[in-house]
Amino acid sequence: MALIVQKYGGTSVGNVERIRNVARRVANTYSQGNKVVVVLSAMSGETNKLVGLTQEASEFPIGREYDVIIATGEQVTIGLLSLVLKEMGYRSKSFLGYQVPIITDSQFGSARIESIDDAKLMEELDNGGIAVVAGFQGVDIKGNITTLGRGGSDTTAVALAAALRADLCEIYTDVEGVYTTDPNICTNARKLDKVSYDEMLEMASLGAKVLQTRSVEFAKKYEIPVMVRSSFSDAGGTLVCKEDKDMEKVVVSGVTYNKGEAKISVLRVPDRPGIAAKLFRPLTETGINVDMIVQNISHDAHTDLTFTVSNSDYKRALKLVKETTAGEIGAKEVVGDPNIAKVSIIGAGMRSHAGIASKMFEVLANEGINIQMISTSEIKVSCVIDVKYTELAVRVLHDAFGLGSGEVAEEKE
Ligand code: ADP
Ligand code: ASP
Ligand code: MG
Repeated sequence: MALIVQKYGGTSVGNVERIRNVARRVANTYSQGNKVVVVLSAMSGETNKLVGLTQEASEFPIGREYDVIIATGEQVTIGLLSLVLKEMGYRSKSFLGYQVPIITDSQFGSARIESIDDAKLMEELDNGGIAVVAGFQGVDIKGNITTLGRGGSDTTAVALAAALRADLCEIYTDVEGVYTTDPNICTNARKLDKVSYDEMLEMASLGAKVLQTRSVEFAKKYEIPVMVRSSFSDAGGTLVCKEDKDMEKVVVSGVTYNKGEAKISVLRVPDRPGIAAKLFRPLTETGINVDMIVQNISHDAHTDLTFTVSNSDYKRALKLVKETTAGEIGAKEVVGDPNIAKVSIIGAGMRSHAGIASKMFEVLANEGINIQMISTSEIKVSCVIDVKYTELAVRVLHDAFGLGSGEVAEEKE
């Protein structure tokens, strides 16, 4: 007997018929003698709709009430699944985040899980029940409802798997696993049998939304094997696990893109110690994460500074930076551009292989795609480009690094 956490995403629970399909899969796993905890997302499109309502009501909606509103989609799906399971003759109970409870910090809109009390879920499992938990939500120590950031149900599932010491965490979605790139953009994207935690972390944080980044951080920390697979077929999925020798051989294992960021440039800012700290402190204090930062070489004691933030923080960040620079810092101009995308190539083998970045730049240049910003790490290279070239850039990079199905990925000699 194993303890299995299964998470089903928005498309998999998109209507009652699909919830019945999920119930059959859950019942099947349960009937094989396993203890099952199910984590669900809201129906697809539902959270977007709720976010839209908050934006209609307020210019800067993120805060306590924002989470109260956008957490509601999951309440509907967990109730429906438990109802269907009971109709089928199983014992089942739904749990909202605060009923478990899943305790988080108070960062509304992107809260972090701090602890999970497993007692109530264990009681339900020990009584022969199937526990159905709302993804994406928790509660802070003051009793406020919180949410874990978009795509956060993945994190609920992996964190629950860690807390319950589950044997396996299965993430059921609308594609058959983790691919070399988004299969909805590249028809010849290849499904990976296995991917290391580190590569998956880079892929997720660089835009492969199949898993939320924090879920991979949890999986790596607690060494939870995560199987990503489809709820619409029985095809084998992708196992996210510790790196092994085979994985190191592949130089580039994936291409990702992220259209969810915007660029802010501060032009002609005085180039003296402490300026960057002054500029970024207000952003940090407001909970706005800055991603890439590029500073130009100084001319006559002035420099240009460009950085990216998430689209959802763009308007707030632009306003804050304009306020900060208008005061004591002094800068000629602050300009923003939301029409950008970040494309990245990722691979554990890059650690010991030269020339990958320059090949990427050449491939983009050959298509006339201008690179606006660059950032690298041991196992990735990212370029910011005009958003209108995103799909083209992904396809040509995917081809250039030999990632398509039927091709053998480039290996080290
Ligand atoms: P769910 O609602 O099940 O959580 P998501 O929409 O969050 O599903 O994530 C699945 C989607 O991730 C896929 O439909 C696919 O378009 C996208 N995706 C992006 N990059 C990848 C990748 N490398 N492998 C698989 N899917 C990817
Ligand atoms: N429903 C939430 C969202 O759309 C959480 C999730 O799907 O994982 O972001
Ligand atoms: Mg998701």
